[in-house]
Amino acid sequence: MPRKSPAVVLVGRPNVGKSTLFNRIAGIRRAIVAPIAGTTRDVISQSVEWQGSVFQLTDTGGMFGASEDPLHALVAARGRRAIETASIVVFVADAVEGKLPADDEVAAAVRAAGKPVVLAVNKSDDKRAQAGALEFHQLGFEPIIAVSAEHGRGIGDLLDEVVRLLGPPSPAAAERDPADPGPAGGEPARLGRHARDERPTETAVAIVGRPNVGKSSLVNRLLREERVLVSDMPGTTRDAIDTELMWRRRQFRIVDTAGIRRPGTVARSGAVERVSAMQAKRAIDRADVVVLVLDAVEGPTDQDAAIAGAADKAGRGLIIAANKWDLMKASGPGASRAFDEELARQMKFLDYAPVLHLSAATGERVPKLLETIDRVADARRRRVPSAELNRFVTTVTSAHPPASPGRREVRVMYATQVAVAPPTFVFFTNVATTFHFSYERFLVNRLREAFGFAGSPVRIQVRARTRRR
Ligand code: GDP
Ligand code: GDP
Repeated sequence: MPRKSPAVVLVGRPNVGKSTLFNRIAGIRRAIVAPIAGTTRDVISQSVEWQGSVFQLTDTGGMFGASEDPLHALVAARGRRAIETASIVVFVADAVEGKLPADDEVAAAVRAAGKPVVLAVNKSDDKRAQAGALEFHQLGFEPIIAVSAEHGRGIGDLLDEVVRLLGPPSPAAAERDPADPGPAGGEPARLGRHARDERPTETAVAIVGRPNVGKSSLVNRLLREERVLVSDMPGTTRDAIDTELMWRRRQFRIVDTAGIRRPGTVARSGAVERVSAMQAKRAIDRADVVVLVLDAVEGPTDQDAAIAGAADKAGRGLIIAANKWDLMKASGPGASRAFDEELARQMKFLDYAPVLHLSAATGERVPKLLETIDRVADARRRRVPSAELNRFVTTVTSAHPPASPGRREVRVMYATQVAVAPPTFVFFTNVATTFHFSYERFLVNRLREAFGFAGSPVRIQVRARTRRR
């Protein structure tokens, strides 16, 4: 039965670029300029499809401000009706002008409607304008997407957010899972528990490591796990084969398995290390979560640390799999601890990565690896609600304020999460400053503890709070 498609409504004060954005999204090159005065500011609608989701995009025109306009009351009333019928409100603001009182007026109306909101800060044409977008965090809406309607920037990100808020295209999609073991086993879909995690439908996993550590054995073992459903996917290049697997209703894609599933394909002379380093790099670039496989008997090496560092730098989730643990059994009960200590020494600052002692040969703790990948993928996309974050700022930074190198005492006023994957936070201070490396580490570690970012890099930036006008 065909259902009416949900309504996505653009609102904002005049001149922020709503109609430009509308035209950009609707794919209409020419501006919608009607000959009769006032009609451009009437409500116009267009059906839009993005990532399989269909919605009705509506531009409310100038429903706020410009009160001498005789049409204003009429248009405003129509605008408010449009908001009432909206499934999602796209609140459009202007990065160049910054936050004006009229934006607060719009914010109040939008808040009163109680609909999910995406704040699109338009005219973010360049880096400078993008920095101006930060003050809009004060409005308290999340997420905030910087866009440039004129240059077509950030439009995909905006639509991704809209579609994410709309939910899956049809409720039937969730039932299509062929791996569903039925009521007898498996877990129910865990959508509710992860409502705050902005998780795409699929997690891309790179399994990387030096030659002979057991990557192929581990991949083959994963694919033989109970209740794992496997299919090969041609990748983007001729030699990149991805393997899809479904586990507990979660979809994973192991990237670039061409090289690792056929053991011995590159095992020739000194070229081996170089080829594997290149493969690792390519796989990391395409992944959400990186599983670095080590040979537990050999212990971590410089090359392992280099791969882990690359994953961190690329902002990917990281898990260390100490493989061949079956051979470590003889080393006694202190072996895990000794191994982990050596690892911590070898990979300083990567201590956020969970370490699993497992065996591809026996299968020991391999199911735990899937579970950990799942957890790390969630952590990497977690968004902390503003209120919780500001509570965190108050407690943590009042007990441990940053150093004040100048004459004025440095205080952290508030913080905001500007991105996920990896989680990125901006800390706003009363005066322009930078945090000492050790203080950054301290904040990152507290953020991890408070919000559970295990396995994911966490980035922080510092900005002086701006006071405009
Ligand atoms: P509306 O009143 O909110 O519908 O705003 P319009 O779409 O009519 O745009 C107002 C003005 O902003 C126009 O002059 C647009 O060309 C300009 N504008 C719209 N989008 C952008 C953008 O991304 N960057 C810049 N620099 N200007 C934009
Ligand atoms: P790759 O080059 O990283 O893909 O490594 P392979 O999967 O080809 O494994 C290299 C060698 O290590 C093979 O001889 C495997 O049988 C062996 N191996 C892999 N995993 C384990 C394990 O968990 N325990 C033991 N004892 N041997 C393993």
